[in-house]
Amino acid sequence: MNKIALIFTGGTIAMKVPSKQQGAVLGLSPREIVDTLHTLTEFDHLVPHSFADLPSPSMTPKHMVELKQVVDSYLERADFAGAVIVHGTDTLEETAFFLDVTAASPKPVVLTGAMKNASEIGYDGMTNLISSIRVVMEPHSVGKGVLVVMNYAINAACEVMKTHTLNLDTFKSLDFGPLGIIDDEDVIYFRSQTQRKDYRFKPQIRPNVYLIKCYAGLEGHLIDYLVNEGAEGLVLEALGRGNVPPDMMPAIRQACEKGLPVVIVSRSPGGRVLDTYGYPGGGKDLVRTGCVLGGSLSGPKARILLMIALGNHLNLEAIRQLY
Ligand code: ASP
Repeated sequence: MNKIALIFTGGTIAMKVPSKQQGAVLGLSPREIVDTLHTLTEFDHLVPHSFADLPSPSMTPKHMVELKQVVDSYLERADFAGAVIVHGTDTLEETAFFLDVTAASPKPVVLTGAMKNASEIGYDGMTNLISSIRVVMEPHSVGKGVLVVMNYAINAACEVMKTHTLNLDTFKSLDFGPLGIIDDEDVIYFRSQTQRKDYRFKPQIRPNVYLIKCYAGLEGHLIDYLVNEGAEGLVLEALGRGNVPPDMMPAIRQACEKGLPVVIVSRSPGGRVLDTYGYPGGGKDLVRTGCVLGGSLSGPKARILLMIALGNHLNLEAIRQLY
């Protein structure tokens, strides 16, 4: 059992810049990447799989469902130790979280990518790939859920987010810190996850779940529009501790009265939401209205979880328990 599936979905890690005008576009094939790795004899047990050629802004939840099937087809095999998924960094945390929430196997699954493309000096693709393979090969990685490996750091899919548009050290678990590091050939874990739940959901989604970011002066029009368009669930990236502008409340109330799950998370990148405030639009008002508090999940992850919860036929009370 020592084979590792190397599943390519695209991203900057597989990009080059043919000309300044054209910008960074896909141009490095999985075969070229794997051939480079195979020159290092340590990595001769890789089995490449070309899933897609997508910049990650083109990744959709439907792709994630398909990707999950591909990943499982390898994990189910006794001769595979785990999988590395090569992904664009923009939506990497959403795919990683999707795979984590639906994970059924304890075998390690690592997502990685690159911040610099292959035409740039300091291309980080190979280092990240080698680190990821080392993490899959490390016995202590078993049972840790889906992991994200970039810039020598190991983070948990449920905790991590892309925090910087340019920096190589962009993937951070702001509240919790990394699970561990890759130092030369050593994979060193500092701690276990604090946030991960072993959901094991079926990879089924309901598509019409929307995310709205709140800001000073926002009213309820967007919510009204989405509800009229057939939204099945809403996630609101609320302000601070989990509060919204009071003029949103009539639309939120109507959505809740229609039985729609309305999940509240924060637009602040760290900390969880709580019903601390009692003013109109405050957390207490939202909870009284029937909204679900989404803990410390980011907006995009809370949306993925709600899509999966609805796809797994959870009712409102079960959704409340879930978050
Ligand atoms: N825009 C790129 C993508 O997500 C960024 C990257 O891969 O680093 O595909």
